Amino acid sequence: MNQRLLLFAKTILTMDRSKPIEDGFVLVQGHRILQVGKRKDLFLRPSVRILDLGDTLLAPGLINAHCHLDFTLFKGRVRYQGGFRQWLRKMGQKTRETTQADFKRSVQKGIKESLAYGTTTLCDISTSWESYLLLRQSPLRSFVFLEMLDLGNPSARKYWDHFSEKLRALARQAPSTATFRWGLSPHTPFTVSKELFQLAGRSLNEGGELLTTIHLAESREESDYFRTGTGPMAERIRALNPDWNLPRKTTPVQYLNDNGWLPKLDLGVHLNIVEDRDLKLLAKNRIAVVHCPGSHAYFHHPPFRYRQFRRRRIPVCLGTDSLASNQSLSLFREMRLFREMHPDVSPREILAMVTEKPAQALGMGSVLGKIKPGYFADLVGVPRAKGRGALADPALQFLNHRGPVSFSMVHGEPKLRLSLVK
Ligand SMILES: [Zn+2]
Repeated sequence: MNQRLLLFAKTILTMDRSKPIEDGFVLVQGHRILQVGKRKDLFLRPSVRILDLGDTLLAPGLINAHCHLDFTLFKGRVRYQGGFRQWLRKMGQKTRETTQADFKRSVQKGIKESLAYGTTTLCDISTSWESYLLLRQSPLRSFVFLEMLDLGNPSARKYWDHFSEKLRALARQAPSTATFRWGLSPHTPFTVSKELFQLAGRSLNEGGELLTTIHLAESREESDYFRTGTGPMAERIRALNPDWNLPRKTTPVQYLNDNGWLPKLDLGVHLNIVEDRDLKLLAKNRIAVVHCPGSHAYFHHPPFRYRQFRRRRIPVCLGTDSLASNQSLSLFREMRLFREMHPDVSPREILAMVTEKPAQALGMGSVLGKIKPGYFADLVGVPRAKGRGALADPALQFLNHRGPVSFSMVHGEPKLRLSLVK
């Protein structure tokens, strides 16, 4: 438990210091980082296990701020044709046809892939409610957000009574741990009724410790629906729930604000279509935005307004979304895709979107997302680039890494190791 482990690595990107540490060390005790520095400044103590990672770039463990492990096996199976609303319907259909055993397999595959690609913390939206036990037992640090969606249900009250009862039972059966926490995810502002938002919101007011996330302002169809309250999306919703309160002359963000949900929100996912007044509200309520570059490209959404978010100091994190709309659960790929679309943003700033920014958004900014004394020992290592690439900025070399990582550690436990020297 309190054993000390000394790691050596050629380059350490701490995300704490302004410059990388060359020929560095990280001393880990139990779950936490005790000391970080240059190898030559190390006063070596006896009885310390040593792991020399050699020619490795070491960085804080990566945080995937949005994914759906339930849908890992949907890769390439839900085609995007004829608009976002139709895609969502196909997803609904496919979800209903999937067995619990298949969801389990999907989650297991997703956990394996995430770990292999250097993810150490994962925010999972759970539709099937199958992921919590698997994630809780897995080496990953995880946040499981149970998804709430009552479109097509006749009574929001009955839905909430059942949902909240089940959530309480699960939280008793599988309480939070140092590496596992529960969260709540209303699906979208157009698939959760006003009544259900109110019921869930009231419960959050009663002192719950749940983190919250929602898909928000993702598609043009969603924005049109909130602006006009008419069109195919409105017709479909009315066909399913004739009494549904249709919005008008508003935006998804404004709508959430009007029903009291913005102050309760931690992570807003997508925000592809935002107006200036939305940006003001997001900043005021200190909401972190999760951008999913792979999924964004898949749906051909309008350009992501990173500059505007940055100008307003709205933190932006990255997520992979599910493999129903993406090719990989690798955050390295997401970072590269982001860089292709925003070449003026520095590699270090991009790396912060999968380390310190999501750590802060999850309320763990003082223990996660940096290699710093006192922080949890969540680390990831990749081989340093060879040839001309080796001259590049280490953060850029890190972003350009492809394939599985060579080292990872979650909560002080090494998951993949190179050579154990002593
Ligand atoms: Zn999603």
